Amino acid sequence: MGEVNEITVGKKKVMLIQGDITRQATEAIVNAANSGLMGGGGVDGAIHRAGGPAILDECRQIISRIGRLDTGKAVITTGGNLRAKYVIHTVGPVWRSGNRGEAELLASAYRESLKLATDRKLKSISFPSISTGAYGYPVAEAAKVALDAVIAFLCDGRNSLEQVFFVLYDSKTYQAYSAKLAEITG
Ligand code: ADP
Repeated sequence: MGEVNEITVGKKKVMLIQGDITRQATEAIVNAANSGLMGGGGVDGAIHRAGGPAILDECRQIISRIGRLDTGKAVITTGGNLRAKYVIHTVGPVWRSGNRGEAELLASAYRESLKLATDRKLKSISFPSISTGAYGYPVAEAAKVALDAVIAFLCDGRNSLEQVFFVLYDSKTYQAYSAKLAEITG
């Protein structure tokens, strides 16, 4: 199976890279958060550590307003000390059996994040592999949902985005996304 790390949708690019999302210089980075928005392990912990307390302050204010962030929804805060100006926090589904609406909820997490970026007229955004760490979503299946959702969103031309990155932390995840992109483009 070949690997592909870039696809062009109209004039917009979707790119796969292996690395640490906290170091990305896109205008926004996406956090695979949980409903409480108070930080956690994995990419969530890494973003709060690198971005500093301003992010958590805004998360607290949001939670005092809305109570909890439901699965599949997203909110936006400052990027604090990060290179990214904004962090978009979204909650992916916990994998149970695969027939509890997980795919639709995961697609929604990507779409809602992209909508917030478009509302702010952002041109670039980076995603981690939402739900495939502690939340246990099988990576190959999550990669298909993620790539399909992003490509579909970009195909609808009425948005500001020019570059969407997937910043994948480990080589196994990178290879799964790359193989899926090869399937989609092939
Ligand atoms: P979830 O709870 O949604 O499963 P996790 O943070 O546990 O979220 O894992 C999601 C993915 O993020 C995993 O592939 C994990 O390896 C990856 N990850 C962890 N730290 C980083 C980081 N600094 N940059 C990018 N991805 C990361």
